Amino acid sequence: MARYSDPVCRICRREGLKLFLKGSRCYTKKCSFERRSTPPGMYAQRRRKVSEYGLQLREKQKVRKSYSVLEKQFQNYFEKAEKRKGVTGENLLRMLEMRLDNVVFRMGLATSRAQARQLVSHGHFAVNGRPTNVPSFGVKVGDKVEVRESRRSREIFKTTAETMKSAQVPEWVSSDASKLSGTVIAEPAREQMPLEFNEQLVVEYYSR
Ligand code: SF4
Repeated sequence: MARYSDPVCRICRREGLKLFLKGSRCYTKKCSFERRSTPPGMYAQRRRKVSEYGLQLREKQKVRKSYSVLEKQFQNYFEKAEKRKGVTGENLLRMLEMRLDNVVFRMGLATSRAQARQLVSHGHFAVNGRPTNVPSFGVKVGDKVEVRESRRSREIFKTTAETMKSAQVPEWVSSDASKLSGTVIAEPAREQMPLEFNEQLVVEYYSR
């Protein structure tokens, strides 16, 4: 499975925004962005006015990297979003939010999308009772996501119940810390998805 493997904190500095890619570390003073928020690279400070295309590109990269999706896959999401009814940009964000790795993260079953992705790909989760190890698996309304019973005693899940209790779980999912599980109640509305994204710029990027 291909994935981004450069230092992830550089992504936050590049996009000029905390993207919370490293779980609990992001909320501490160790966060690289808190210490140095300038873009990486020797000549980054000298950059001039950003063009319209540059803005669209950066926004697309910001969204794509937040969900750790590779370019081709992101483009596929966009093409599917275009074909769906409704607003393309919102459709795109919604599809990304409904990925299994993101849903695991939203339910508080992992501290970051990166950790969720790893846990999913190691086969620790089941959707509606069926083991699923595909991070991009599209979860639907009513689906139950849980740590597989045979994996619950693993060291990695010893603190998950506590993590779930302190997690900010959005209204479109429910979570049950005692069972290490959660259910998708509804598809997220626009205001329940990250407000720092300007999805219209992403649509404009692909509509050039
Ligand atoms: Fe971004 Fe988290 Fe790294 Fe801070 S610690 S720069 S929020 S990935």
